Amino acid sequence: MKSKTGLTGRVIFKGDPGYNAARKNWDPHTDRFPKVFVFAQRTQDVANAIKWARKNNVPIRPRSGRHALETNLSQVNGGIVIDVSEMKKITLNKKCRTAVVESGNQVGRIVDTLARQGFIAPFGDSPSVGIGGITTGGGIGPLQRTTGLICDNLIAVEMVDAKGRVIRASKKRNSDLLWATRGGGGGNFGVYTKYKFKVLRAPAKATVFSVTWPWNQFEAVVKKWQRWAPGTSTKLGSELTVGPKKGGNVSMLGLFLGSKTEALRFLKPILSVGTPTPTIKYLPYLEATKFLLAPDPVLTQKYSNQFSSGFGYHPFPDKAFKPMRKFLEKAEGGTPAGFYFLNWGGAVSKLAPRATAFYWRNAKFYVEWNSSWVKPSHAARNIALTRNTRKKLQPYIVGSYINVPDQGIKCSGPVYYGKNYPRLRRVKAKYDPQNVFNNPQSIPPAK
Ligand SMILES: Cc1cc2nc3c(=O)[nH]c(=O)nc-3n(C[C@H](O)[C@H](O)[C@H](O)COP(=O)(O)OP(=O)(O)OC[C@H]3O[C@@H](n4cnc5c(N)ncnc54)[C@H](O)[C@@H]3O)c2cc1C
Repeated sequence: MKSKTGLTGRVIFKGDPGYNAARKNWDPHTDRFPKVFVFAQRTQDVANAIKWARKNNVPIRPRSGRHALETNLSQVNGGIVIDVSEMKKITLNKKCRTAVVESGNQVGRIVDTLARQGFIAPFGDSPSVGIGGITTGGGIGPLQRTTGLICDNLIAVEMVDAKGRVIRASKKRNSDLLWATRGGGGGNFGVYTKYKFKVLRAPAKATVFSVTWPWNQFEAVVKKWQRWAPGTSTKLGSELTVGPKKGGNVSMLGLFLGSKTEALRFLKPILSVGTPTPTIKYLPYLEATKFLLAPDPVLTQKYSNQFSSGFGYHPFPDKAFKPMRKFLEKAEGGTPAGFYFLNWGGAVSKLAPRATAFYWRNAKFYVEWNSSWVKPSHAARNIALTRNTRKKLQPYIVGSYINVPDQGIKCSGPVYYGKNYPRLRRVKAKYDPQNVFNNPQSIPPAK
């Protein structure tokens, strides 16, 4: 498909049929009015789009799974969105234990394809997140204590740079780009078209659990969880969510790569808090992944969100629960607002903070919180609620996760990347010295 502009792939300009569907991201707050969407079918379409954008001086936004959690990341008014979501090939090499996936795949599709062939692909809490974006920022989830972050399994990439050249990076060539891609965040260096991952054999079966508590027990559950979850078996991944006071509850979802009997033994400390309602199942591995990855369609998701995130090196002291409670009391009821925690340790913490661009290796847990709304007129107060809560929680957290960004953070480079920020700027200067790939909190090239 070649249009008269020289753009190739499935090209949709503003006003063309399909424009409104093309512009629908998971979070409506991030929808914009780009000039054109290019749905690339192959790497050359990406290269042509970059060359066209540079010739016509149009800002570029790469896009894969549409799950950006801040504005102007994967769409921008008047820009070109280079969308790789129709590039979805997955090639598993069982003998070498590697998988090459095109960057347009959703995480759930990779998990499912590999699980059916007896292999693990790490995942987070939503199957529709794009591998394109999640990999570059890190990729956290309940398997990480066994597999490491998604980016820890990345061994090679194919990327199109600002001149439209195809660049390949691995341990042997352009290893600085591979280092930067493992946690440096999307939209910084070029448009990735392929990722090569090492993969692990999946167990035949795994134990999954879903536990709920009444909302008013959240403080006791969070306190216990922060002391228990980081130190329990590294085969156990636990996601703890606390919903808004209005209509919310406390819930813990996760998995244990072992038997139900063993899982119950490790879960005992947290199940002894308050009045939990547990569901615990020992399932074939594929079924276990389905239990954890409920469908999360992009086009019908109606809530807008403001997220903020950080890492806990110590359990929250009592005084941290005051801003947490205030946030949960003020968050809109009936929405997916709340707090979310994920336990750290195991394979994530085995790598040194400087080994990959992902810096926050030595934390005990990850924490994020989000306000949500439907009416655009509620946006400002909800954004302020999340950002003010960050200020109040700042003494108890460090850093922030680039995949769950907050554009209220000023001088954000060291906050996302810690001591890796200067090196990331040097890599940026090498691969994109003119800062063609940029967004509101992207990495500027070193001078
Ligand atoms: C419902 C939901 C659940 C989530 N759960 C988790 C989780 O459990 N674990 C976790 O780690 N994260 C999670 N995230 C955060 C997620 O990792 C980030 O939002 C990620 O950036 C999304 O990637 P995407 O490709 O879907 O999004 P997009 O909106 O397509 O892109 C996001 C960013 O990545 C860039 N990008 C995308 N594709 C490419 C590419 N091919 N080349 C270069 N840059 C690219 C974009 O320019 C943009 O800056 C979640 C997000 C949502 C909305």
